[in-house]
Amino acid sequence: MSPVLRIAVPSPLRDCLDYLPGDAPHLPEPGTRVRVPLGRRSVVGVVTEIADSSHLPRERLRPIQAVIDASPLLPSDLLALARWIADYYQAPPGEVFALCLPPAMRRGQAAIPPAGERVWTLSAAGRQMDPDSLTRAPARRRALETLGAASAPLTAQALSAAGVRPEILRGLLKAGLVEVGERDPDAPDPSTRDLEAAPEPTAEQRSAAAAILDASGGFAAFLLDGVTGSGKTEVYFRVMQRVLDAGRQVLLLVPEIGLTPQTLARLRARFAVPLAVLHSGLGATARLRAWEAAAAGAARIIVGTRSAVLAPAPELGLVIVDEEHDESYKQQDGVRYSARDVAVKRAAERAVPVLLGSATPSLESLHNAETGRYRRLVLSERAGGAVTPTHRLIDLRRHACTGALADAALDAMEARFAAGEQVLVFLNRRGYAPVFMCHGCGWIAECPRCDARLTLHQNPAALQCHHCGRREAPPSRCPACGDPEPMPMGAGTQRTEVTLTTRFPEVPVLRIDRDAVRSGARMARLFDQAQRGEPAILLGTQMLTKGHHFPAVTLVVVVDADAGLFSTDFRAGERLAQQLVQVAGRAGRADRPGTVLIQTRHPDDPRLTALIEQGYGAFAAQVLAERRELGLPPFGRLALLRAEALVEADLFAFLEEAAAVLGQTATGVLVLGPVPAPMMRRAGRFRGQLLLQAPRRAPLHACVQRALPELDALRSGRRIRWSLDVDPLDMF
Ligand code: ADP
Ligand code: ZN
Ligand code: ZN
Repeated sequence: MSPVLRIAVPSPLRDCLDYLPGDAPHLPEPGTRVRVPLGRRSVVGVVTEIADSSHLPRERLRPIQAVIDASPLLPSDLLALARWIADYYQAPPGEVFALCLPPAMRRGQAAIPPAGERVWTLSAAGRQMDPDSLTRAPARRRALETLGAASAPLTAQALSAAGVRPEILRGLLKAGLVEVGERDPDAPDPSTRDLEAAPEPTAEQRSAAAAILDASGGFAAFLLDGVTGSGKTEVYFRVMQRVLDAGRQVLLLVPEIGLTPQTLARLRARFAVPLAVLHSGLGATARLRAWEAAAAGAARIIVGTRSAVLAPAPELGLVIVDEEHDESYKQQDGVRYSARDVAVKRAAERAVPVLLGSATPSLESLHNAETGRYRRLVLSERAGGAVTPTHRLIDLRRHACTGALADAALDAMEARFAAGEQVLVFLNRRGYAPVFMCHGCGWIAECPRCDARLTLHQNPAALQCHHCGRREAPPSRCPACGDPEPMPMGAGTQRTEVTLTTRFPEVPVLRIDRDAVRSGARMARLFDQAQRGEPAILLGTQMLTKGHHFPAVTLVVVVDADAGLFSTDFRAGERLAQQLVQVAGRAGRADRPGTVLIQTRHPDDPRLTALIEQGYGAFAAQVLAERRELGLPPFGRLALLRAEALVEADLFAFLEEAAAVLGQTATGVLVLGPVPAPMMRRAGRFRGQLLLQAPRRAPLHACVQRALPELDALRSGRRIRWSLDVDPLDMF
């Protein structure tokens, strides 16, 4: 009897579907794309498994319509990784496989041969070598003879056909006997570029890199815990260099906002190897090209954001996750995976080292380092002699303010400008004012579709909802009592810009937030202006806090530290600390010492004082102790069932039933809720949730897996949108 093909189809189905091979010329192997009927449509699916039998009777199975790829498009390691993601995150396999392929390939476009193919030749030393001296290493001898006899460089495929295995080539490469290049007549020869020399490493950099290189024989996870400006990148580069020299590929993940032209320029300046860049902002063709270059091994460095963790890399030798604490690594919709955690899994499967770097490691990673799962490497000092900034709190209850800024902060700024220096003002609130209010009756402009206030924006004037995107014209009279001129209260970045230009008319304000900076080009211009180093104010939201270096900044003002102190989300404190440390890290990078002023109404908050007096490590230890008490991650595991509905009663009817279903299967799992989401109404929908908490992953996983089919079948679920988030980051 013919075998059954288990195929991941693009749909939210929880399982793969079984098909028959039909009259396919050959049995498509796992990883091959096929065209299959799905309902009345014809879709592109990926064969995940060849099975002997199906749980369905054979006559109910439909045959596939066509085989798209002559050989598997997805290598077996990615197939296994995709299956693991589907299982771990309880995600539909079709959606996971879609993540593994560039859009053009999801649509069924044929794979085209890669532009740059890797080719091998003898090096000068290899040409001088007498093959007879290698009688005791016959495999090496055959490789050298084959290459010596060839009139042109050979591909790995051609060499493999001649009996030369890739690991032999890598060994020879290490020994300097062969060279590897790229066959691509159109591409400029990267080896002719002028490369930047590596700086002399600090002692800490040297020993961190050495520790990682020593472990390069197999899987090992490292947490590179280095203060901002300590030169983590230099450690990455040193390790990368060795891995590249050994003929392996490097996968480098960066946060969404970290993949700037500067990052790429830095990579290109240091490495003469072909680079593939992968992120969601690329056009379909560019994505396809980059993916193919990675798959063919032509790209030696694969750099990208979250989804690049699923890029093919046949010769993978190292995985790096830069700014591993960054929340953009967690996908917040669809397949809710954490690219950081998947990166560690991938490295383990491929038996290569993985390096997680941050100045503010996530508490999960710190815990993994404490329990010995990761090895922690510390860079405690700034590279290049820069000094660590000093921190001071400004108690807003005791200081006069102009706008959102304490006069003490403004005076400190003035002194910096007089010294020809720059100042960074961090305010994570865009718009003009977060509240628009009538002083006659207390009316406040609220979004009719969300439980949220509207933010006033200027140029053009509008009341905007930051949660659903709604915009309306600000009323000139109070809609409740008719009083003229409702007033803005509080300050966002736009209003603070006005405060600053009024006070310092001669100093340019470079505002950096989502309204002011919509393109990478604009960001690059502002960045260039800041790099010139003349007095300026960099004013912005968290867009400013990530990855950029502003060497002329010597003072950082954090306008409002309090929002993160009082949140229902147990991760808010961790996030605030990361933000404060990251923004402080922009100051005093070069030879000039920096100062950080933090405005707060709660200068005695123990978390703030721990952070400021003892640093991130002490803060983290304190928060970890709290989490241990409460069984919260990283000490316990969570899954969040989020639901939303147009009618509030429907929402809770479903959540009650879901809680009952989960309660039945929950051995060793706490089912908490239903509770309304912290912002219950958003974009016209009511939102609520159930939280599952367990001391370990296995019972949580078992509970969810058993309950899901029943949850899918609940009638009350039909008018509801719901989803499950394993290891959620946001608690709504
Ligand atoms: P991090 O990512 O840890 O915040 P970077 O890697 O960006 O820090 O390095 C901060 C600055 O220090 C950069 O300007 C970098 O060029 C410089 N730097 C790094 N290592 C060295 C070194 N060994 N000697 C001199 N300068 C260095
Ligand atoms: Zn009023
Ligand atoms: Zn809204």
